[in-house]
Amino acid sequence: MKNRNWTTIGHDQILEILGKAVELDRMSHSFVITGIESVGKMTVALDIAKAANCEISNTEQRPCGECSQCQRIQSGYHTDVFIYDLEIKDGTSGQLSTTITMEQLREDFLKQIHRKPFEGKTRVFIIASADLMRLEQSNILLKTLEEPPDDTIIILLATGTENLLETIVSRCQLLQLKPASTEKIMEVISDSDFHTEIERNKIARLARGRIGWAIRASGDSTVVMDLEKYLDSVESAVTGSLEDRFEFSRVLAMRFREDTRIGMYDMDLMLTWWRDLLMLSIDSDMEIVNISRRTTMEDILRSLTTAEIVKAISQVRIALDNIQKNLNPRLVCDNMMLKFPVTTISSS
Ligand SMILES: [Zn+2]
Repeated sequence: MKNRNWTTIGHDQILEILGKAVELDRMSHSFVITGIESVGKMTVALDIAKAANCEISNTEQRPCGECSQCQRIQSGYHTDVFIYDLEIKDGTSGQLSTTITMEQLREDFLKQIHRKPFEGKTRVFIIASADLMRLEQSNILLKTLEEPPDDTIIILLATGTENLLETIVSRCQLLQLKPASTEKIMEVISDSDFHTEIERNKIARLARGRIGWAIRASGDSTVVMDLEKYLDSVESAVTGSLEDRFEFSRVLAMRFREDTRIGMYDMDLMLTWWRDLLMLSIDSDMEIVNISRRTTMEDILRSLTTAEIVKAISQVRIALDNIQKNLNPRLVCDNMMLKFPVTTISSS
């Protein structure tokens, strides 16, 4: 690879493709970037924005990461880079100052999209969580993608393409980000010196391919602590009384109302917990994700059959599905918690 300063870590193939296009000055005007939460979608999008605005004359070296264009984009102060997200979170790292809520998408996007670049060469519109757009918003986008204005790049970020209009996807270059290997993540976080080898190993495993998450967790111990706290609550709910289960459901539903992605993230974690149980119950050699839970899980397994675990996993999946169909989160969560098998922790 040539001497570029991509901020993206891993995803070499994707960078190779983008690098070629940058070099030949043939960048696509619209992208769909897919991948799981924290896998690096926003970082790739910002790298595209930098490459399209970089001041360095040698195209082989764009983005340089050092010119004022690259730096202003990186720090979130570039007036030609627009980020639309579900909501603005105060103090969340990585959120840019130019973030605009999806509620404002219609008005703002239509106003901005046909203007000329102000300080750079290309205006870049990044729409995070594009898979959670309403139909009305999708249609606005579709119209723009049908006749894309010059000097403009539109980038949609989504978990997958399933919830995007096919007509949108077909008009964009699709970049699918794969989760990184545990080895790659170990390599990336190996220079964080306040963690021991064992801790790094744990973080790399818990990251499940999400480099962004691993970097956050290796720099901030509360990330793993929050995760452990949540898994504690999963364990007590699953092994507790009916009241415990309903209380868990109430909190989970609240998280969904706060931000669908946060709720989805929690559900996904719960899914890994059940999967780990399944792995242990069939004595699979596959490494379990939540290693710190092993003892408790083995204990829980004394009162659970493999078939019951498989059923529980499908209940989580059904719940995720129903939430995406916009059913009431509280009802969906209550229903899921009710259908989990009855189990206990024997030794505690
Ligand atoms: Zn530059």
